[in-house]
Amino acid sequence: MNLTPEPFLTTRPRYLPLLNQMEALFCEMDRTYAAVADQYGFRCNGCADNCCLTRFYHHTLLEYLYLVEGMGTLESGVRQAIRKQALTISAKMADTDRRGETLRIMCPLNRDERCMLYPYRPMICRLHGIPHELHRPGGNVTKHPGCDAFFDQCRESGNTEYIRFDRTPFYRQMATLEKELRLETGYADKIKLTIAQMLVTITDSAYEID
Ligand code: SF4
Repeated sequence: MNLTPEPFLTTRPRYLPLLNQMEALFCEMDRTYAAVADQYGFRCNGCADNCCLTRFYHHTLLEYLYLVEGMGTLESGVRQAIRKQALTISAKMADTDRRGETLRIMCPLNRDERCMLYPYRPMICRLHGIPHELHRPGGNVTKHPGCDAFFDQCRESGNTEYIRFDRTPFYRQMATLEKELRLETGYADKIKLTIAQMLVTITDSAYEID
């Protein structure tokens, strides 16, 4: 996969409206998630099994270009430090993959238990934690559990009864926006990247384009 920001940035005004629509969708996700988490009495306080240690893959050009926007809000020195960390992490992940081992390693955007680009974080970082359901094409519904911290907290409070949280409409709206973005940009490759892998592609030259 040959993904870098520069070829897209020359047409940025054309795709920004789509990123704005995704931002609105992210706000809706955050609101819906918070409302359900509140009903459980669940608070994500960070934990030993921090989800920022989990290797999540991200699959949309939308989330990639949004991360590029987020990196653009940081000073050059900070960006370069993040990229250096991302390079180290990506190399470690590749090395453990070659040896057939698994590695839990902190996302390069996490500093002192805080996400440095919290408003720009991808979808899975927003939805992880509480139990959810997915409605598959054909009518099959799958249910998925919450994270370990969720179970620990809810076991203590006794709030273990499932409260409906359907990710399907969010996934569908993301897919629609992604389709529009692919048409707008002409980019057809599949994407499967960790945050670290995305960050290594973002150099300062991306922000020197007028
Ligand atoms: S992008 Fe932010 S919220 Fe998502 S894993 Fe990285 S540090 Fe955590």
